[in-house]
Amino acid sequence: MSSNNKKWFSLDLNKKTDSCDCGKTSDGCKSSSNSYPHQSLHQISDADFDAAVDTEIANSYKKDGFEQVFDVKMDRRSAFKKLAASLAIGASAVSTSCSFIAGDESKEKSQIDWEEQFKGNYKLMSDEEKQATVDRLVRSYQLRTGKNVSMSSKNAEKDVLFGYAFNISKCQGYMDCVSACVEENNQDRNSQMEYIRIHEMKDGKGFNFNEADDNYYHEVPAEGHFYMGTQCFHCDNPPCVEVCPVSATWREDDGLVVIDYDWCVGCRYCMAACPYDGRRFNWSKPEVPEQEVNKNQHYLGNRMRKKGVMEKCTFCVQRSRAGKNPACVEACPTGARIFGNLLDPNSTIRWVLENKKVFRLKEDLGTEPKFWYFMD
Ligand code: SF4
Ligand code: SF4
Repeated sequence: MSSNNKKWFSLDLNKKTDSCDCGKTSDGCKSSSNSYPHQSLHQISDADFDAAVDTEIANSYKKDGFEQVFDVKMDRRSAFKKLAASLAIGASAVSTSCSFIAGDESKEKSQIDWEEQFKGNYKLMSDEEKQATVDRLVRSYQLRTGKNVSMSSKNAEKDVLFGYAFNISKCQGYMDCVSACVEENNQDRNSQMEYIRIHEMKDGKGFNFNEADDNYYHEVPAEGHFYMGTQCFHCDNPPCVEVCPVSATWREDDGLVVIDYDWCVGCRYCMAACPYDGRRFNWSKPEVPEQEVNKNQHYLGNRMRKKGVMEKCTFCVQRSRAGKNPACVEACPTGARIFGNLLDPNSTIRWVLENKKVFRLKEDLGTEPKFWYFMD
């Protein structure tokens, strides 16, 4: 890949020149004294900083992120702000390395932080750029925790359109699906944010979500009640996607509606637009004990997220695109959940749609959810 086409900035932290100014006497911290991140902001001359801002503006026209997504041109003020923020990150990372680690790993961390800071929107990346992005995140996790994760950037497959069916007669309200989803998707353990809700409803009252109990703590199934699950329905015509001001969420070719956590600005417009309560905002950084982290991850799925972004069910993209059922389907002890490829005439989901009386919620909205309900 030509460096002109890269969708993130690169810093050559190995460009060793003279000794640095970190205070170490022999050969310094082995970082270049000429690299900007090694210098604090006030150590850069006005001329150097002006030159860097000009380079930043010129480079911005070669990249996709700001131009293609926001369709705005980089002006001097925004270039200055971007560069200053990044120099601060770089300076702090390298200064840490001077004090404690001073080595190749520290330089690599700084390099990764820098490139992550400026990467483009995942949706617009080539396959090669997607792979480079997940490689960076895997390496970053390894450098920070000493542990390995596997992260996929696998795209939608041709002739696949995922769909889901929920058997209301079979669900007994055990909530094994909810626990499996939390564990599979590395959801925060403190807030207990859950992508799936199980609604306990009274017999004879219809599907009355206003009167349903979504937080029951008693033995199930409770007499005189039935249970109904909701989550993101992966609409074919998703209103949540249309309202996103930064194109951080979109529908993929296999029908999955996904989010680039690193592009999301946390405005929550999508949450307001969803008619099915399918989205969750994380108010705190998701915390998962290291031994419980699911290390089989996908960039668009269960990778570790930052605080203040939108999350939701992805039909377990890390599993479904690997030919497996989502965790909730696997975990359901009553077989109430059916998942599969709607374009495969031999799939169980197709059999259900063709042989059962199915319905969807709020059909009149035209959102075309790919989540059906049925009864035996
Ligand atoms: Fe978007 Fe809500 Fe539809 Fe999921 S259920 S695709 S969040 S509108
Ligand atoms: Fe887009 Fe994130 Fe805002 Fe949702 S919260 S509309 S995904 S930027």
